[in-house]
Amino acid sequence: MSDTTAADATTGSGSAGPSSTYEVLAVRYASRLTTAHDVYLNYHLYREPDRPLTMDYFFWIVRNAERTIVVDTGYSADAAVTRDRPVLMSTRQALQAARVDPAGVDQVVLTHAHFDHIGGVSVLDSGEVVMTRTEYEFWMSPLAERHQFAHTAERADLDHLRQLVADDRMTLTGGSPHQLAPGVQLLQLGGHTPGQAVVVVETAGGDVVLASDAMHYYEEIERDRPFNIVADMAAMYRAFDQLNELGQQGAVLVAGHDPAVMTRFPERAGHDEVVRIA
Ligand SMILES: [Zn+2]
Repeated sequence: MSDTTAADATTGSGSAGPSSTYEVLAVRYASRLTTAHDVYLNYHLYREPDRPLTMDYFFWIVRNAERTIVVDTGYSADAAVTRDRPVLMSTRQALQAARVDPAGVDQVVLTHAHFDHIGGVSVLDSGEVVMTRTEYEFWMSPLAERHQFAHTAERADLDHLRQLVADDRMTLTGGSPHQLAPGVQLLQLGGHTPGQAVVVVETAGGDVVLASDAMHYYEEIERDRPFNIVADMAAMYRAFDQLNELGQQGAVLVAGHDPAVMTRFPERAGHDEVVRIA
């Protein structure tokens, strides 16, 4: 297990040569129908009629000639059953669809500890696992057992995180930004969960921000509407500001659960559910 120091904050960009240019993929592994009322916090405040919304579930691949990074992992087969959330593909099938060999993954980044982001980590049984120390320590604390938090996580998944620490496979980041690899940074934004992270990747076409649940839907930052699962609303609004700022600087923002990802990025990478972002 390692930690970060202030030195991490000084390493902005990698020396990416042509062979180390990153490819970024989004893999859609599940999809379900919900409503705006169930998605946005206090939706009645907007005085709009309710409307159906599709919620897609993704994880992401960042890779080049030197390394493969998997960002989040989908949810476990057990959670799919107990929560009645059927999947389009299991984590293993989704990795296969993106032509990722689990044994060849160098790093697994867990953006936060919700069940739909960490439940598939057991499929990836080698390589470094990275999450923010704030996030890990929160979910190991008694507060995480309170109902409003506990229902968003699976005890078995949290036990698995504990095991990753015991096995010395987990890196808990203490600084933000934290450099994951040349040209790949983790930013801790908080809000949705105490240590919610996003991943920023330098690509040939500019920076790509994998926002995960710092922005489930583009509407959150475009219309300033918090999602209904929120640990710290002030931090969530600040995260919206940071994402909007990155967007204004030219970064490509990738929402965590928005079906618009499937249309904003129309190119596929060898499979209908594997979206080429860059
Ligand atoms: Zn979440």
